Amino acid sequence: MHISIIGAGPIGCYCGYLLAKAGYSVDIYEEHAEIGLPIQCTGLLTRDFDQLNLLKESFLVNTFQEVEVNSPDGQKIVIPQTEYLVDRHKFDQYFAELARKAGAKIYLRHSFVRKEGKELLVKELKKNQELRFSPEIVIAADGPLSKTAHAYGFYHPQRQNYYGIQAIVEGKFNPQRYQTFFGREVCPDLFGWIVPESKTRARVGVASRKDAKKWFDTFVQKQGFKIKETQAGVIPLYHPKQKLKIGNCYLLGDASGFVKATTLGGIIPGMKQAEILADCIANGKDYERATKSLRRKMNLHLRLRNVFDKFEDKDWDKLIKILGKPKMQRLLEQHTRENPLPLVVKALLNEPRLLYFGKFLV
Ligand SMILES: Cc1cc2nc3c(=O)[nH]c(=O)nc-3n(C[C@H](O)[C@H](O)[C@H](O)COP(=O)(O)OP(=O)(O)OC[C@H]3O[C@@H](n4cnc5c(N)ncnc54)[C@H](O)[C@@H]3O)c2cc1C
Repeated sequence: MHISIIGAGPIGCYCGYLLAKAGYSVDIYEEHAEIGLPIQCTGLLTRDFDQLNLLKESFLVNTFQEVEVNSPDGQKIVIPQTEYLVDRHKFDQYFAELARKAGAKIYLRHSFVRKEGKELLVKELKKNQELRFSPEIVIAADGPLSKTAHAYGFYHPQRQNYYGIQAIVEGKFNPQRYQTFFGREVCPDLFGWIVPESKTRARVGVASRKDAKKWFDTFVQKQGFKIKETQAGVIPLYHPKQKLKIGNCYLLGDASGFVKATTLGGIIPGMKQAEILADCIANGKDYERATKSLRRKMNLHLRLRNVFDKFEDKDWDKLIKILGKPKMQRLLEQHTRENPLPLVVKALLNEPRLLYFGKFLV
């Protein structure tokens, strides 16, 4: 069976690898000339990445032991947490190579243009030539603005995106710890981050549904960093009603909006979704049904996002104060943010004051 994957990002390539390994004929089309460029990601991964057994020295930049959370009123809490920082260029290249070695063919500078009936039209950019083919299966893994998803009619008008902007800066940093900053004056839609690559270099940014550039400029200026390079990209907000399969086309990764709405991390959910999709194709399973458990997690992240969106600065101060208590710290240390349900339940049982935030669910 012939499978065409549009987009050679890490999720498309990982799925391509799994399908090629399972014996399918897999073509991956990528519009850029080089895999992994331009970089549009911070590259933070929770320790849940270990479950995938894919961590490699070749793309690992730093390993954190702590996360620092800063409240609007100046409180600082430090949560022990092992997390990884990857080089997205090398990371994406690693997954492309994995796919190639398993037998997938990757076509660079090939951009999906449109579909006509069952035919896909892909432009070979170097020769300015349109190619037509009719694969049995199409996987749309072409990121948050997926042209493929548009062509197949996946997207609805309520779909929302964030705009993330980050800079590579020079300064003095503690490489063991990355920092997050909350509050209406930093970034009302999400938070600001300072993620050190080393003692002297860090990735600093914000993401927002509007005015991202304004929040970014204010945040970076306040910290007084020397900017070496700026990167930006779109991040989708998860939508619970997003369809995942229409006709012979499957939606995957950012194209499907499988991103944690609390932190906008999409790599681990996308990797897990790629494993589910490869299993569904190989074993004739229903993709919508098979992603139910992952969707439940995405939904809880979205609910939490809806609560956080209503926060005033005083609410962040209150929440961060509660999270700073030793028993909350222990809970936060034990759980990663990939699966928030056990954390939320245990936190509520241990700290009834968290019920105060229940009013934002209404
Ligand atoms: C500023 C920022 C910071 C982020 N930080 C983190 C983080 O720390 N941790 C985390 O987990 N996630 C983070 N994310 C999200 C993360 O980058 C995505 O979830 C992840 O890249 C999704 O991978 P993907 O393969 O689905 O899509 P992408 O990485 O977007 O790959 C899609 C590929 O499709 C190609 N493509 C697009 N259109 C076409 C077309 N028409 N034809 C052919 N090819 C096409 C693109 O060139 C690209 O190579 C961040 C995002 C941004 C913008």
